[in-house]
Amino acid sequence: MKIGVFALQGAFIEHERTLARLGVECKEVRKRSDFTDGLDGIILPGGESTTQGKLFHEEGLFEPVKEAIFGGLPVFGTCAGMILLAKKLSNDQNVYFGALNVTVKRNAYGRQLGSFETQLDFQGIGKIPAVFIRGPYVEAVGEGVDVLATVDGNVVAVRQKQLLATSFHPEVTSDLKVHSYFTDIIRGKI
Ligand code: GLN
Repeated sequence: MKIGVFALQGAFIEHERTLARLGVECKEVRKRSDFTDGLDGIILPGGESTTQGKLFHEEGLFEPVKEAIFGGLPVFGTCAGMILLAKKLSNDQNVYFGALNVTVKRNAYGRQLGSFETQLDFQGIGKIPAVFIRGPYVEAVGEGVDVLATVDGNVVAVRQKQLLATSFHPEVTSDLKVHSYFTDIIRGKI
């Protein structure tokens, strides 16, 4: 299995380290020529979604990646990656890939106090540590989307077929379960 990790901006190294610990091969994608056939899934890391959105366009990656996502390529989006996947943002007029049938609120916990760590119950996995860094949350869930985790009643992890998105950053903890969940999606196990 080979997973492409987008390395345009943000917390991509942490995903690469997590995949390495799981024994999964990964490929850094920085430019159009890196986005080749043979990737079994991709990770859209956290960072700054507006900057990342611009870079996807500047690097000529936006259209091919969007096409691949709509074509069924498994995607795991963390934080800014969740924002890039969403069909609608409630406090931003931009829409990026627009594949995940949810409405997402950016910086939903406030800009200053928006970073915290907690434990949450992730459906099918159990209790995991979750680090939030000025993260979004899901305000409305559309058809075909399963809620996998909530914190204080707010939706922070969702799945829609081969698309997985979390408001938090499993890659900055030593827990491998969410990445392993993503590889199970890729393998068609769940
Ligand atoms: N606040 C960032 C944004 O709106 C997301 C934060 C993150 O990815 N850690 O793009």
